[in-house]
Amino acid sequence: MPFDTLGLTPALAQAAAASGFAAPTAIQAAAIPAILQGRDLRGSAQTGSGKTAAFSLPLLQRLAAEPASSTSSTARRLRALVLVPTRELAAQVGETLEDFARHLPERLKIVVAVGGVSINPQMMRLRGGADIVIATPGRLLDLVEHNALALDAVSMLVLDEADRLFDLGFAEELGRILALLPKQRQNLLFSATFPTAIQALADAVLRDPVLVDVQGEPGTAPDIVQRAIEVDANRRTQLLRQLLKENEGTWDRVLVFVATQHAAQTVAEKLYKNGIYAVPFHGDIAQGTRSDILAQFKQSRWDVVIATDLAARGLDIAQLPVVINYDLPRSPTDYIHRIGRTGRAGASGLAISFVSAATEAHFRLIEKRQGLRVPRERIEGFEPTEVAPTVVDTSGNGGIKGTRPSKKDKLRAAVAKAAETSTPPKTDH
Ligand code: AMP
Repeated sequence: MPFDTLGLTPALAQAAAASGFAAPTAIQAAAIPAILQGRDLRGSAQTGSGKTAAFSLPLLQRLAAEPASSTSSTARRLRALVLVPTRELAAQVGETLEDFARHLPERLKIVVAVGGVSINPQMMRLRGGADIVIATPGRLLDLVEHNALALDAVSMLVLDEADRLFDLGFAEELGRILALLPKQRQNLLFSATFPTAIQALADAVLRDPVLVDVQGEPGTAPDIVQRAIEVDANRRTQLLRQLLKENEGTWDRVLVFVATQHAAQTVAEKLYKNGIYAVPFHGDIAQGTRSDILAQFKQSRWDVVIATDLAARGLDIAQLPVVINYDLPRSPTDYIHRIGRTGRAGASGLAISFVSAATEAHFRLIEKRQGLRVPRERIEGFEPTEVAPTVVDTSGNGGIKGTRPSKKDKLRAAVAKAAETSTPPKTDH
């Protein structure tokens, strides 16, 4: 099915073709006609399955079809707002929109507005308003507070990685932004994951939405092989070095996820000292450097990036064959996004997780959420020696005789339960 049968104009069908897209993906085939009709939509589809184009193409078409109204508010007018959780994702979505928009006869003004860089050039760019702004929530609010932008004429709102934007780290900012938007608007929410706890919040934003969920449809699952290697926590860096060495010719680029900024620094430094081109990537690194690292990684100037969950969402790194979970993510949702950095656009990928005695139970939770079992492997020379910490049964009908759950155990159980349903608040963006 070609793109023009979805109702796209020849210019935008041509834009898709120019990007090398022969046919729409499942999410594009389902979402584009509904968006063109002006419907609200919640779109759920696997990582790497073309969600960006699914909203970008119809969004451009609708804006191009309706010339900016001269009556709509002031020179600070904005017509469409795309919110994303990270600066890198904003830049990426901005590039996709610019690439497609180049094929339109009308010129649309597209502005990326993110934090971590000077606000002044963004304020200058916004003079006279804009057709589309792609922003992270904090900087968008700063721009509104500086009177650089008014949101009262926004007719289309896109929340990309929507569930992340609704979770605690962003909820307050998102609430403030929603309050500034006109009630009459088209809302488009996209993500690979919509945890149940978030769904109700998300649905409150939508009006009579079309719900598109192409997960589980034949041929839509990303082709990612998952492996789990049992290893003691203190041997992981050595194991990582060995794996990188063994696969030097085949793993062009490797993205390694760790739990903290500190771990990103130390693991990267240790690898670098051992002759591996590894670099840390996290929210405490200056924005210019962050952008450079990502661009250089895409150009193969770094072999390994050691990242926090800052890199877990949305990033589209072509030919990234391997993702490694040095530390497991805190929630099964984050796991889906992390491993989804590989196996994109129909390519195959490999995701390896290091599992220690202490994290085995957590990995089982991740497996359960996906409804699959990943066989545990052991690598010669790295056989684990640690034993699992004693688990106290908090159900009250078993566990260790005479031991009652301590406050700490209860807290741990509560945290594990929360991690099951939502992502904990994080500031690393
Ligand atoms: P996304 O999920 O939007 O990040 O897209 C993942 C990757 O798939 C990107 O590299 C897109 O360029 C690519 N892509 C999107 N739509 C198509 C399509 N219809 N055919 C082929 N590749 C696509």
